[in-house]
Amino acid sequence: MSTSKTPPEPGREQARHELKLAGALELAPALESTPVEIRDHYGHYIAGAWVEGAEEARFETLNPATGARLASVAAATEAEVDAAVSAARTAYEQVWSKLSGLERGKYLFRIARRLQERAREFAVLETIDNGKPIRETRDIDVPLAAAHFFYYAGWADKLGHAAAGRSVAPLGVAAQIIPWNFPLLMLAWKIAPALATGNTVVLKPAETTPLTAALFCEVLDAAGLPPGVVNIINGAGPTGARLVAHPGVDKVAFTGSTAVGRTIMQAIAGTQKRATMELGGKGANIVFADAALDQAVEGCVDGIFFNQGHVCCAGSRLLVEESIAEDFVARLQRRVQTLRVGDPLDKNTDIGAINSKQQHETIAGYLEIATREGATVWQGAACEPPAAGHYHLPTILTGVQQTDTVVREEIFGPVLSVLTFRTPDEAVRKANDTEYGLACGVWSEKSQKLFRTAHALDCGVVWANGYNLFDPTSPFGGVRHSGFGREGGVAGLWPYLREVSP
Ligand code: ADP
Repeated sequence: MSTSKTPPEPGREQARHELKLAGALELAPALESTPVEIRDHYGHYIAGAWVEGAEEARFETLNPATGARLASVAAATEAEVDAAVSAARTAYEQVWSKLSGLERGKYLFRIARRLQERAREFAVLETIDNGKPIRETRDIDVPLAAAHFFYYAGWADKLGHAAAGRSVAPLGVAAQIIPWNFPLLMLAWKIAPALATGNTVVLKPAETTPLTAALFCEVLDAAGLPPGVVNIINGAGPTGARLVAHPGVDKVAFTGSTAVGRTIMQAIAGTQKRATMELGGKGANIVFADAALDQAVEGCVDGIFFNQGHVCCAGSRLLVEESIAEDFVARLQRRVQTLRVGDPLDKNTDIGAINSKQQHETIAGYLEIATREGATVWQGAACEPPAAGHYHLPTILTGVQQTDTVVREEIFGPVLSVLTFRTPDEAVRKANDTEYGLACGVWSEKSQKLFRTAHALDCGVVWANGYNLFDPTSPFGGVRHSGFGREGGVAGLWPYLREVSP
């Protein structure tokens, strides 16, 4: 048998050789090799300058993938919170509220472009600080953060259109508190609409993920943002509590747990402060028998195992039609067995590290409860997780009931509870049988079934034949114990505006 192969054309070979000589065929350096600078200590960014922060109030931020120390971080004291709010007030009164929307928009465009230019650096730093896979920070967190600034930059000089012809004005100083699951993206969700509408900001990142917010201050400096328009203070719950209680704050924007959201609402009750709350969730993916099943499997994997389940809108419940339940769970398990759990800086990793030891213990605690309550615990992955750091295998719980703790409470980890239904009404009833109301997914080939189910679901967001899909033009937020107010889209501007007489 002859295996003749066409010889390479001499011209092409020559061209290839020349390209190689010119360096054009060299591969770009690997993303994870992008150098990032991590300072030994981070204080607070107030009025455009860094202040060290009190010596006695410092804590350490760790790399969740290895447990190694990354940096020391100051926790803002009463005086530092006061300085940040005063800086925001001064910047609001003297500069920011006096600028035209067109001028504010230019700053936002500059911030967006700088974020894009330094995207690789932000992606690597976010992965190191948070533990999520580099593929996610590269493809989701950082591009979406830049997209939010681009989107709201476009709105800054068109606020009259956002308010349906009414005259609107900014509120003043916004206190913004964000969690650790999407540190840079949540910062963008908060800061971009606040600045576009003419407000100034004091933002507190979560205590376990302060690093990309600190790097973001370099972006603000490079964009030439006037000092005090954005201030970033570090610290844990007590710092956040001081910030929201400060009398100089006009608006509170919070993303985090329902328990802390409740505490904040109590703290500001009886004041004139406006608030938006994006709180916990217990999302359900409803899979009908007529759905494209492999596509639905991907959606379920995205919905709960994506980002280690550290997503408030995670699809932590699967409601699958009884007739296909066995087959569907088997497909899901086969897919989960291909997921790679490991080093978040490796581009092949699907599931990275749990953000903190405390959160890892919380997830493990829920699995103990699930076992005690009679669930069958199944775990799988393509490989063993590394020994050091905090890793949790993707977990599927079957044999659970509506009343089980793991079905009712937010776990915030890669743990999926499987329930079944026989009729569309039963699916909706079970999906709505939770105190939360953030997001759900519906999977069916019948558009009428999709629409009917989506309208009957009592939650802020419904994805049809998809899950965890985000876009700056699309409002996001919850109902009931998942909070109120919307972020994203034109609706994301309204919580930062008040109506004034024309
Ligand atoms: P998670 O469960 O996602 O960690 P938390 O609600 O505990 O969410 O934290 C979200 C953010 O709220 C963090 O930045 C945290 O420091 C802050 N925080 C915690 N307690 C309070 C509080 N009492 N007042 C204001 N902010 C708080």
